[in-house]
Amino acid sequence: MAAIEKRSRQDWQELDKEHHLHPFTDHKSLHKKRSRIISRAEGVYIYDADGHRILDGMSGLWCVNAGYGRQELIDAAAEQMKELPYYNNFFQCAHPPSIELAAMLKEVSQPQFNRVFFAGSGSESNDTIVRMVRTYWDLMGQPGRHTIISRDNAYHGSTVAAASLGGMKPMHKQSGLPIPGIVHVEQPYWFGSDRSLSPEEFGLAAARSIEDKIREVGPDKVAAFIAEPIQGAGGVIVPPDSYWPEVQRICDEYGILLISDEVITGFGRLGEWFGADYYGTRPDFMPFAKGVTSGYLPLGGVFVSDRVADVLIDKGGEFFHGYTYSGHPAACAVAIANLRLVQKEDLVERIKSDIGPYLQDKWRALGEHALVGDTRMVGLMGAFEIVKSKSPLEKFDEKRGAGVVFRDTLMELGACMRAVGDTIICAPPFVLSHGEADELIEKTWKALDQAQDLLSA
Ligand SMILES: *Cc1c(COP(=O)(O)O)cnc(C)c1O
Repeated sequence: MAAIEKRSRQDWQELDKEHHLHPFTDHKSLHKKRSRIISRAEGVYIYDADGHRILDGMSGLWCVNAGYGRQELIDAAAEQMKELPYYNNFFQCAHPPSIELAAMLKEVSQPQFNRVFFAGSGSESNDTIVRMVRTYWDLMGQPGRHTIISRDNAYHGSTVAAASLGGMKPMHKQSGLPIPGIVHVEQPYWFGSDRSLSPEEFGLAAARSIEDKIREVGPDKVAAFIAEPIQGAGGVIVPPDSYWPEVQRICDEYGILLISDEVITGFGRLGEWFGADYYGTRPDFMPFAKGVTSGYLPLGGVFVSDRVADVLIDKGGEFFHGYTYSGHPAACAVAIANLRLVQKEDLVERIKSDIGPYLQDKWRALGEHALVGDTRMVGLMGAFEIVKSKSPLEKFDEKRGAGVVFRDTLMELGACMRAVGDTIICAPPFVLSHGEADELIEKTWKALDQAQDLLSA
């Protein structure tokens, strides 16, 4: 028995307008054109209420890695709900799905990770980390060590602490953020710089802005550095190869904890299990969410290294923190089924040696289009930059909304990517076939041609 009534598209749009406040949305402008109602999905395709088929080049919101309609995941949720739909992990209780998943996560992560703390989302996971980091340094007898360094334009979630860790200026401005003890340094965005340095020099300089900040704040006050291996929501900012080794050196030298935010890059997106594996870093924390369940149910969590977990366990007493849905049984059951599916279908290796290189080649070729100033893609996480002119390099006036013009054109042609300003970002499901990759690229070329006409008009 379906819980959802059948209604026309117009009825859904009307009800939506009257009653529903959306995340990250300017409602006044939405209400002028109404929402696009997505009513079902299969494989790598979503379908809107008019039956239009759209190739989902964003895996929902970077999460539906296994694709839509996977029976294994649906069955795992249904069976777990029959057995035990909910119980908590408070008060000295636990249940098989949370335990099984915790043990499984240990198997796929670096050796310093033996323990995991569950949350309901990526934002909650980062809130948890702020509290764990500060508690750790208190227990180490260094209570002055509470400052966390993050980066401009980072995205770490939308709760008060996670948005503070993030470096999105408009988010800070609306609510008096960041909270005290969180500071920001520059992002390793070579294309967005004046390009007077080589990418490698620029990467080193960006990493050293962390060292400058440590000296400015005081090495005895800095607790941790947090970063996404590749910034996602900020526009798929792929750092130069020189960046991460230098960041690791700085963290080691000053003894500060490294937090690798793996909410997007975790569980295979870059062709390795984690972004930390791809870049060869050894983090002390890894928050995760999104792809752990392929988005079928909400689940987040934090990998906690032995360095921290041993101290929390040995010296910490009770850690006064947790969520009602920390380790929700149905979400954990789906995560277990999802990780098994990723392993069984060898999807991480597939990204590394098959569909990743296949799509990357075609993506790079988009750089030949007059409108495309830069292309980049690691694993199945990519971006290109829409520019007015390539040499000399000239960007469109921000008000022109060139990125949105392209995105809307592409959507009309039946494929979905996201615009971050004039940066177009793409992160398709891991199960994307070669034929579907071809379709995505063909539609992108066509949308670029049409957008060029619209933008030169
Ligand atoms: C999406 C995201 C988050 C926040 O996750 P939610 O589940 O939306 O709270 C945190 N970090 C990164 C890198 C993300 O992309």
